[in-house]
Amino acid sequence: MAYELPALPYPYDALEPYIDAKTMEIHHTKHHRAYITNVNKALEGHPELAKLSVEDLLKNVQKVPQEIRQTVINNGGGHANHSLFWPIMGKGKGGEPKGDLAEEIKKTFGDFAGFKEKLSNAALTRFGSGWGWLVLDSGGALQVVSTANQDNPLLNGQVAILGIDVWEHAYYLKYQNRRADYIAAWWSVVNWDRAANIYASARGR
Ligand code: MN
Repeated sequence: MAYELPALPYPYDALEPYIDAKTMEIHHTKHHRAYITNVNKALEGHPELAKLSVEDLLKNVQKVPQEIRQTVINNGGGHANHSLFWPIMGKGKGGEPKGDLAEEIKKTFGDFAGFKEKLSNAALTRFGSGWGWLVLDSGGALQVVSTANQDNPLLNGQVAILGIDVWEHAYYLKYQNRRADYIAAWWSVVNWDRAANIYASARGR
């Protein structure tokens, strides 16, 4: 079963004024779709890999033949990352997490402000294209990390709880070179209920 572009859980203009509708439409229908097209193409003739969820594909990337491995990392990663990204944003969101995730963030980073600064800084200082992440590591601890390109944290044995896309395609129409302004605005659309659900299921594994 080839991967398919998931529908956005909100209209393209839902994240205005923080993320503009045109950026969302191009990002979803062009960029995300291209990752899916490319990973599907790479997996043609590999039905045992194509039947895996994209997360399982990335977890088992060492089993992917060498000649398509980097294509799978880039484009399977692009599909996984954007599939996570869309639902962890929403209209009228932002604020702070609640419940277990809030407690764990406080325990790990001191307070929410400390966490916010750490993730913002990781995203801001990622040179070139990539992502800033809140992840659950294999020891069950939260960490802030960043990755280059479309590398998903699963490649490092970490499960993404929350991620911010800092490729220029995610913000350039509205923010041009002002990545810091985009990152600051992004916090106003974070869907903490969704992040808490991802955290709960990651902890349950
Ligand atoms: Mn992107």
